[in-house]
Amino acid sequence: MKLVVASNNPGKLREFGALLAPLGWEILPQRALGVAECAEPHGTFVENALLKARHAAEVTGLPALADDSGLCAHALGGAPGVQSARYAGEPKSDRRNNQKLVADLAGKADKRAHYVCVLVFMRHADDPQPVIAEGEWHGEIIASPRGDGGFGYDPYFFLPDAGMTAAELDAAEKNRRSHRGQALALLVDRLNKHRA
Ligand code: IMP
Repeated sequence: MKLVVASNNPGKLREFGALLAPLGWEILPQRALGVAECAEPHGTFVENALLKARHAAEVTGLPALADDSGLCAHALGGAPGVQSARYAGEPKSDRRNNQKLVADLAGKADKRAHYVCVLVFMRHADDPQPVIAEGEWHGEIIASPRGDGGFGYDPYFFLPDAGMTAAELDAAEKNRRSHRGQALALLVDRLNKHRA
């Protein structure tokens, strides 16, 4: 069975491939099938992930998997949220995004934040019952970066239980704990149940 993944991020494609391999899916990145990236115009992760999955399924005629993810700070009403990649505007820059996040939280006592990942699987473009799985990873934002692993907000995302930031975890440990790892595990579980 072939599955188109609505992402061109090599790290994500590797993770998806590894976790979905036991289901016997052949994972195809959308770019390899000539699918252009679609816009992410919505205010919620789930709406954007649905749009991306439907678009990839429509163009290829294959089942599709899409994800949308980001960071939500409690004291900022959930911002950066769906704007996480471009929080400090265009062109997108992790450095400027992190500077803005730390500045926005400077006067706030509540530094809690969580990563969110929403995964959507559609059997076909008109699937009335997409399989949806969501993962959350909770931490707090610190003022100075620590660690050089991960990407995005990871050097500022401190995990009190681990005593380190997400950028200080090794990749396997991050995958085990992360919002994306949790959402993928849940999705695989749901897909297995649907097939049973
Ligand atoms: P997207 O889901 O690839 O569009 O990711 C949206 C943005 O959320 C990324 O560009 C990062 O800024 C942020 N983000 C999502 N997941 C992570 C993560 O695991 N670590 C750090 N930043 C993340």
